[in-house]
Amino acid sequence: MPTFLFNEIIFGPVLSRRLGNSLGINLLPVKSKLCNFNCLYCECGLTSSFKQIKKDLPTREQVKSELEKTLHEFNENDRQIDTITFAGNGEPTLHPQFPGIINDSLLLRDKYFPEAKLAVLSNATLIHRKEIKSALEKIDLNILKLDSVNEDTVKIMNCPQGKFSVKKLLANLADVKNLTIQTLFVRGHYKGSQFDNTTEEEIIPWLDTLKKLQPGLVMIYTIARDTPVDTVEKVSAAKLNEIAKRVEAIGIPTSISD
Ligand code: SF4
Repeated sequence: MPTFLFNEIIFGPVLSRRLGNSLGINLLPVKSKLCNFNCLYCECGLTSSFKQIKKDLPTREQVKSELEKTLHEFNENDRQIDTITFAGNGEPTLHPQFPGIINDSLLLRDKYFPEAKLAVLSNATLIHRKEIKSALEKIDLNILKLDSVNEDTVKIMNCPQGKFSVKKLLANLADVKNLTIQTLFVRGHYKGSQFDNTTEEEIIPWLDTLKKLQPGLVMIYTIARDTPVDTVEKVSAAKLNEIAKRVEAIGIPTSISD
C-alpha cells in the first residue's frame, strides 16, 4: 500500500542495467503525482486531483537551472552520467513547456556530457500532438508504455483519464523514432474486474503489434514495490523469461527489468 514520490526536480543518478548511471528529471509536482493514467500498480500512488496540481509544476527556468547546476557539479567532480531520463511523479509530456525543456536539456547535455543519452519514460498518450512528437524526435530513447493492446485491459489496468483509444495509440506509436516499448506484467482484480496481461489472449496480439512496430528494445518487468491497490499480483521471473523468449523469437531484443 505505501507508495513514494520524488521530492526533487533532479534525482539520482540511479544505476540501471540498460541506462547506466541515469540522472532523473521530474517535471511533475514534488508533493503529488500528476498523470493522465491511473495505473493500479503506480509506485507514485493513485492519481488524485488532475487539474488542481498542474499549478505546482516546476517552471522551464527552474528545470534548466537545476539541471545545469547538477551537470556542472558532476562534470567538475569527474562523475559519470550515461543517461538523462525524464521520469518522476507522473507523465512528463503533460508539462506545458515539455518541448522547450527538451531543447534546454539537449543543449546542456551537449555542453557537459555530450556522450550521454536523453531518455523519456512516457505513457505515450500525447504523442499525437505535433509539438510533443517533434520533441520526442530529438530524444535518443523513447521508452513508451504498452501494457496491453486490449482496450478493456488497458481500461482496467491503466485507467486512462478522459478520451483514450488503443487503436489510435498504436497508429501513433508506428511513427515514433528511437522506440523502446515498456510493458509491465501483472494480474489481479479491482472493483469486480479481473485482469491478467500474461494470458495467451493478451500475449498473441501484443506480439503481433511488436512485430509491426519493430521497437529497438522491449523492456519487460513486473511490480517491484508496494502498489496503491493491494489486489495487484506480481508475475514470476519464470513467466517474464518465457515472455521475453517469445519476443526475442520474433527478432526484437528484450530486457527484463532490474
Ligand atoms: S503512466 Fe506511469 S506515472 Fe502514470 S499512472 Fe501509470 S505508472 Fe503511474
